[in-house]
Amino acid sequence: MSTKRIIVIGGSAAGPKAASKARRMDENAEITIYQKASDLSMASCGYPYYIGGFFDDRNQLLCSPAGVVRDSKFFWNAKKITTNVNTEITSIDRKNKTIHFTDLLTGEKGSAEYDKLIIATGATPRKPPIPGIELEGITTLQSLPDADYLRKVRDEGRIKKAVVIGGGLIGIETCEALHLAGIEITLIELLPQLLTFLDKQMAKLVEKYVMSKANVILENGVAAFLGENGKLTAVKLQNGTEIPCELAVVAIGVNPNTKLATEAGLPVGKTGGLIVNEFMQTADPDIYAVGDCIEISNLITHNSIHAPYGDLANLQGRVAGENVISGNVAKFTGTIQTGICKVFDYGVGATGLSEQNAIKNGFNNIETVVNASLDKPGFMQGKLLVTKLVVDKSNGLILGAQVLGPGDVSKQVAIWAMAIQGKLTVTDMVNADLPYAPPYSLAIDHSIATAHIMQNKLNGFFTGISAEQFKKKLNNKEPLILLDVRNPDEYEQMRLGIGEKLIPLGQLRKRLEEMPQDKDAEIITWCKISLRGYEAALILQANGYTNVKVLEGGIMAWPYKREK
Ligand SMILES: Cc1cc2nc3c(=O)[nH]c(=O)nc-3n(C[C@H](O)[C@H](O)[C@H](O)COP(=O)(O)OP(=O)(O)OC[C@H]3O[C@@H](n4cnc5c(N)ncnc54)[C@H](O)[C@@H]3O)c2cc1C
Repeated sequence: MSTKRIIVIGGSAAGPKAASKARRMDENAEITIYQKASDLSMASCGYPYYIGGFFDDRNQLLCSPAGVVRDSKFFWNAKKITTNVNTEITSIDRKNKTIHFTDLLTGEKGSAEYDKLIIATGATPRKPPIPGIELEGITTLQSLPDADYLRKVRDEGRIKKAVVIGGGLIGIETCEALHLAGIEITLIELLPQLLTFLDKQMAKLVEKYVMSKANVILENGVAAFLGENGKLTAVKLQNGTEIPCELAVVAIGVNPNTKLATEAGLPVGKTGGLIVNEFMQTADPDIYAVGDCIEISNLITHNSIHAPYGDLANLQGRVAGENVISGNVAKFTGTIQTGICKVFDYGVGATGLSEQNAIKNGFNNIETVVNASLDKPGFMQGKLLVTKLVVDKSNGLILGAQVLGPGDVSKQVAIWAMAIQGKLTVTDMVNADLPYAPPYSLAIDHSIATAHIMQNKLNGFFTGISAEQFKKKLNNKEPLILLDVRNPDEYEQMRLGIGEKLIPLGQLRKRLEEMPQDKDAEIITWCKISLRGYEAALILQANGYTNVKVLEGGIMAWPYKREK
């Protein structure tokens, strides 16, 4: 049998993963990676932490788990893979199964033949065509040279004010990195909320928290970058406000790099990503594509989406690497869009559909619940988690979860991701057997407690109201009886300050005469996380009150102003 020639275009995440898997499947294949950048296997997800000073050795972004820098020598010695860095593939000749390339350092051109080709060209950050965009001091954060530039900013310590444009994952992670470099940050987002994968109430909680570290401006875009002598001096917003700054980081999303493929006649989908099947194969059976340059299927809605995530790029790379050697045996069927990011000392993550996304996609019989509680016992320094769960009421299936807070968000998101992927229902989750010991969890894990609240709600034992719905009622000046059932010292420290009455839970049964005579009056109860609020609601209901609601997540999930 003749030796298989595999060519991989792109040498960062998906490309090297595909090449390495192909090598593991076939010791004799001739495998070559062409990489436009000068480095290989860069851990781009680590850039914000290098810039923020979590570690100082740049090589750590390029190291294998054994601590060896993944350069050309490493790829050859450890994997027998040829790598050509600083080399751009300029065209694909599908008829002759040949690629053409240019050495970016020497200008030399060349070509090579393939039996199977894997395209892993990634994505390019969007840069709006705004006046002044060419000024010195404006950057994106996508490549290692971008990370080098921002790390230099940190090390030099000269820049005092920066603007970050875009309130998505990379924008927010950049905020933290620059904040840690002692720079005053203003975060600008065109939409009315940060992190659009979250529902509004959850995004508002993130916004409130970010505002304790940076200035946040929503619903405003950049009209122009202003400068002097070719250097950025300010960002002018669409509403005319000028924000003085010496640095601007543009993080408004990425577009898949498909020019090479489309010029070769390979089709792209509505999202602009290359179309592939579940084997990661393009319309040409000898060409596969993986990572940020493709579009994939959302496993819940079956819509085609562009999901530029490092974990998916690696999973897809592995599938393509196996298939180019063994025929189409491995599959990547799609994503439920699980993601997480570090927002200063909070984790913020989501999986599946948010409420707004579920409605947009035609799920018209959903239930949601917000739960705020600790990730482990107080005596083990448990930290707060706030979860919003979305389920399909018609069958109890978990559709989505959003989790945030200083607690162990990653574990919660992982649990819900597996529940969604495994098509579990609320009933499956209420008795889930998760690991428990005080250093790691509560006896009833936060995720299970969330499922319990949802089950109570679905069974009609619990009538909740979200902070958003409650706020609407307050704004509409609806007649409400507002009842905080915490202890007086907690009330003194912090309260909603919206005209509520304080009756601690332990006194409620004795002080029922203080409640309205009208048993149909709308009463809203709460406490710190709304467990006592729930118990208060049950007492009131047992005493004939018919319209009692519990503020879901209590004071801790209240995203609006509170009185201290
Ligand atoms: C700052 C930052 C933080 C991130 N954080 C996370 C995170 O926490 N979690 C997460 O899941 N994802 C994260 N991501 C996303 C993740 O890094 C990407 O999804 C992943 O790198 C995509 O891998 P890829 O191989 O498809 O593309 P890339 O990593 O972009 O690699 C593509 C490579 O192709 C090369 N190339 C392009 N065109 C050619 C050509 N014509 N010839 C030769 N070579 C070419 C480029 O030089 C590039 O190196 C982050 C990204 C960034 C920038």
